[in-house]
Amino acid sequence: MTMSRIPRVVIIGAGISGIAAAITLQRNGFHDFVILEKGSDVGGVWHWNHYPGLTCDVPSQLYQFGFAPKPDWSQVFAPGPEIQRYLADVVDQFGLRPHLRVDTEVVTAEFTGTGWRVGTDDGDSYDADFVIAATGVLHHPAWPDIAGLDEFTGDILHTARWDDTIPTAGRRIAVIGTGSTGVQAVSALQPHARQVTHFVRSPQWVIWAPMRLSQPAFLSTVLDRLPALNRALYQAGMLGAKAFTDVVTRPSWRRRLVQQYARLSLRAQISDPRLRAELTPDYEPLCKRQVLSGSYYRALRAPNTELVTTGIDAITATGIRTIDGRHHDVEMIVFATGFRAHDYMRPMKLTGRDGISIDETWAEGPHAYRMTAIPGFPNLFTVLGPNSPTGSIPLHHAAEVSARYITAWIQRWSTGEFDAVEVTDTAAERFGTEVVQALGPTVWNTGCNSWYITENGKIDLLPFDRRTMETMLSHPDDDDFHLNRSSR
Ligand code: NAP
Repeated sequence: MTMSRIPRVVIIGAGISGIAAAITLQRNGFHDFVILEKGSDVGGVWHWNHYPGLTCDVPSQLYQFGFAPKPDWSQVFAPGPEIQRYLADVVDQFGLRPHLRVDTEVVTAEFTGTGWRVGTDDGDSYDADFVIAATGVLHHPAWPDIAGLDEFTGDILHTARWDDTIPTAGRRIAVIGTGSTGVQAVSALQPHARQVTHFVRSPQWVIWAPMRLSQPAFLSTVLDRLPALNRALYQAGMLGAKAFTDVVTRPSWRRRLVQQYARLSLRAQISDPRLRAELTPDYEPLCKRQVLSGSYYRALRAPNTELVTTGIDAITATGIRTIDGRHHDVEMIVFATGFRAHDYMRPMKLTGRDGISIDETWAEGPHAYRMTAIPGFPNLFTVLGPNSPTGSIPLHHAAEVSARYITAWIQRWSTGEFDAVEVTDTAAERFGTEVVQALGPTVWNTGCNSWYITENGKIDLLPFDRRTMETMLSHPDDDDFHLNRSSR
């Protein structure tokens, strides 16, 4: 391939998206890139998250890069630390370490008219022709505003910033929140704690799944020796994922069947009618990000666990008081209260063309053309950005597809075809309208409150299937962009 110029690229974030972007650039012959990572190691959410019980509820065979299949996952649903190790191994295997700056937080990024100047917290700056923002969705822990939080004299932890030095065995622990995280944390803490009190504001449907099922050693050996079989298994998994996308995006008997299974999971495991009533959500299964567990209801039935569905009034020096006036004495409070999922790229000060800030552009919530391009921000692309398919399509694959799309633009820049590429307002608005229309029949739109929904009430997900996503990102669509040349 002949190149007339070599693009300089800054990738922000070394999680799944950043790694996918870096390897895609490299595989296309672009090596002048740096990955700026705020954390002390790669892995993104899998680096930051290490609470007890952390397990991925997406099968391991699908929770990996197509270009780096791992034959020997320990479990069908991999534990968190193993996923973090996998991502670190991929970084080593593809020689990304020399490109990586850890403990380096990007605080500013400004479009200069011809490219970007990216500033970090240690005072360094990087000049780039392109910026790829791979900053993650589940990054900023959400701390609820509960009265008395500062009064508590015991230990307070957020699951997304767990402190491994704080003991949990033999202690009285409150867990607040019942998303995927709260359910996993309660299941893991209960066997060793003296008492676990689970504060549940709105119950979730919890589908039974064998989360601790081992991957048989002989299968690992066979997949290692027969990479073609491993690839075939990955493709088979993709077909399974396709069925799941169909279930969540289109009403059908298949959706109803899965929903029935969710109801059955509760009925079969909780026989006490009072407890079952407390655990029954008032919305359709699958509306929120579905929780999977094979151990949560068992943990709840244990004598040292109590479910509290009465609202929290305040935190006191020694525990939590609920609105019925009851005081729950605890030594430790675990906030499994999720993330500020729509603060994507912030608090970074991102300034685009003509001084426009990302906060102004996204005043009504994050939005981007085909998940990746934002009007006013030339030569900047997001991977797993706004409207990404976090609820429906395997994420590594979505990141790879976006990374290939972005690389196609960079390739064209390298031949001198343009200096700055910027999506048009019209194209971004058209995409937004298509998304809103397609979200109508999705299960996410059946009347529940979840982290998928922005403060402005928009559902921040991709309502299309994998093929549609692949098609929309298969090649740059020139009609949707301004291609500018500068006179530098
Ligand atoms: P989440 O799904 O947003 O759940 C947050 C929980 O905290 C909800 O139950 C919420 O109750 C509760 N909460 C928030 N503020 C509260 C307050 N002031 N008082 C009482 N309860 C409060 O967060 P998450 O469990 O961390 O999960 C986030 C996402 O991370 C998941 O959906 C999933 O995508 C990902 N995740 C994946 C895995 C995996 O296995 N792959 C594991 C963990 C997390 P309301 O519902 O009433 O708001």
